[in-house]
Amino acid sequence: MEHIRCLIIGSGPAGYTAAIYAGRANLSPVVYEGIQPGGQLTITTEVENFPGYPEGIAGPELMDDLRKQAERFGTEIRNAIATKADLSKRPYKITFDDDTTVEAETVIIATGATAKYLGLEDEKKYAGMGVSACATCDGFFYRKKTVVVVGGGDTACEEAIYLAGLASKVYLLVRKPYLRASKIMQERVLENPKIEVLFEHNAEGLFGENGVEGVHVVKRKGETDEEHYDITADGFFLAIGHKPNSEIFSPWVKTDETGYIITEGDSPRTGIPGVFAAGDVADPHYRQAITAAASGCKAAIEAERYLVENKL
Ligand code: NDP
Repeated sequence: MEHIRCLIIGSGPAGYTAAIYAGRANLSPVVYEGIQPGGQLTITTEVENFPGYPEGIAGPELMDDLRKQAERFGTEIRNAIATKADLSKRPYKITFDDDTTVEAETVIIATGATAKYLGLEDEKKYAGMGVSACATCDGFFYRKKTVVVVGGGDTACEEAIYLAGLASKVYLLVRKPYLRASKIMQERVLENPKIEVLFEHNAEGLFGENGVEGVHVVKRKGETDEEHYDITADGFFLAIGHKPNSEIFSPWVKTDETGYIITEGDSPRTGIPGVFAAGDVADPHYRQAITAAASGCKAAIEAERYLVENKL
């Protein structure tokens, strides 16, 4: 069985940054790219908040650069999906594509999180053309425009408030008659003159010629007074939660109720010696490329120290 010193699972900013550091520390890292090579940024258009790019950079280009930088220091990048993990003892065993199992002395889990979508056909049709699941990433393109945010939790409220700082009008579509978000977030949303909360509303579809121009909504779906109408809007933001890609690791590492891997304090340590978690799979709060990259760096430094301390 192949034996790897530093195995990195996932190829977003966390995975590639871990690879850059691990490569420069001579750990001969191997990165498995996973379902979405390059991660969530490959489905973003322009990234304007990653330090070092004063003019911004296209998401796929940024990820391409990170991959090249990782390869420059000897990272081997493979295209396969982790389908099984056995973290019961070292060396840890990870199976890819239900087919090949490798052994690893250290494992960096950087499998990311996937934004949830409603499942409407139009979300795919208008992907990158007005549909987004990240206000911090894409909000800037909606200055003085009208946007719709879907969701009633803390993320939706946070995104609505952020977007209200840029857009001229924000509709918050909430499927229940109340917000699930914390009291303070609810108050901020309800007090914001630019945000109009539409309770008991669901989105049914989108319309527009060359991008989103509006949303088909239904009010009080399934009730006798059910009502269908259209809202004119330039952007459609999903904020109905994220699903961390931690399933195969959850029998071994601690996760919260949503599935985010719980690490020790500020570190990427999972509690299993030599197994670290970096990026969105362990971050329910920030979910930014730069915070993911930073945690990937920490994970590689931890892996290097672990290998040295254990003479591996
Ligand atoms: P949540 O699961 O808390 O909320 C998801 C929201 O989306 C709910 O209002 C839910 O509605 C709605 N929703 C889910 N599916 C659909 C659907 N198909 N159609 C319409 N609406 C839907 O996720 P969040 O991402 O908001 O938060 C995740 C965790 O992170 C929470 O614990 C939250 O407190 C935390 N967080 C904290 C922040 C902070 O403290 N500043 C900021 C952001 C997140 P319903 O209520 O009907 O189920």
